[in-house]
Amino acid sequence: MIPSAFEYFAPASVAEAISLLEQYGDEAKILAGGHSLLPAMKLRLASPGVLIDINKIAELRGVVINGSINIGAMTTWHTIEHHDGLKSACGVLPEVVAQIGDIQVRNRGTLGGALAHADPAADAPAAILALDAQIRTHGPGGERTIAAGDFFTDMLTTSLEPNELITAIIVNKLGAGEGAAYAKFPHPASRYAIVGVAAYVKMNGDKVSACRVAVTGAGPMPTRQGDTEQAMLNSDGSAEAIAKAAEEAGANMDVLGDIHASEDYRRAMVKVYARRALTTAVARARR
Ligand SMILES: Cc1cc2nc3c(=O)[nH]c(=O)nc-3n(C[C@H](O)[C@H](O)[C@H](O)COP(=O)(O)OP(=O)(O)OC[C@H]3O[C@@H](n4cnc5c(N)ncnc54)[C@H](O)[C@@H]3O)c2cc1C
Repeated sequence: MIPSAFEYFAPASVAEAISLLEQYGDEAKILAGGHSLLPAMKLRLASPGVLIDINKIAELRGVVINGSINIGAMTTWHTIEHHDGLKSACGVLPEVVAQIGDIQVRNRGTLGGALAHADPAADAPAAILALDAQIRTHGPGGERTIAAGDFFTDMLTTSLEPNELITAIIVNKLGAGEGAAYAKFPHPASRYAIVGVAAYVKMNGDKVSACRVAVTGAGPMPTRQGDTEQAMLNSDGSAEAIAKAAEEAGANMDVLGDIHASEDYRRAMVKVYARRALTTAVARARR
């Protein structure tokens, strides 16, 4: 299928991209890896009159690890997957990313593009929520930082303004006593999550002192599981405690059924994958 005609710009700086976004308003779309936008354009589900390709903006690429981890919005899955610094500072991110699509998708797809697109079955949003990351944006009014918990607002919808660009994602390094993991039931063809669960656990001695669990794939948007998190808090992180907490997963969220999996099946899988992700996260936190 051939997309409808569009004008094409390839700015070399964030400032230039913002000024193009201001100039063309609703007509314009940012082009990152193109692995979600271009299929939508070919199917005529999206017909932007203007594409602003941000691939030439060098400042948006790469991973910097200091006190925290700063991942440029245009950093590809491939870079994240193979980044040695990330593997030791926050190993769950390369682990999540290695499970995305296939090598072609990982060579082109970007973290910023995936978060902006907010596909309900995308993997990274669950990890970003469980890690309590921050999303840095740049718009005509300057920069702002959005907590991951405030970023996803509905299916394919975020709190990003139409003329704003995601510039970076800030993630805390995982230290002693902290562990995170991702467990996913992938669609066998696309690898998108039929159900995916990301879990973060902090142990203080033999007690769980912090826990965040986020589900993707099951509902219209990635969702934190407050009841599961509460059940884990102050528990000993034992298999019994995890099984009990995982039973709460999916309780307070919309779960959708489709041709790939019914609502009931997804609800059942949310509990199974929550247990798996928590089991690995606790084991890592104890190391
Ligand atoms: C065959 C196939 C299999 C896939 N499998 C998986 C999978 O298993 N798991 C998974 O999570 N994903 C999967 N994906 C999606 C893939 O990861 C996409 O690359 C990703 O979701 C979008 O990133 P992108 O860089 O390609 O963004 P694009 O397609 O370029 O853009 C997506 C949207 O985000 C906007 N946008 C992009 N960058 C920015 C920015 N910096 N600031 C503001 N807005 C921006 C664009 O305007 C557009 O609306 C798959 C895709 C394909 C084609």
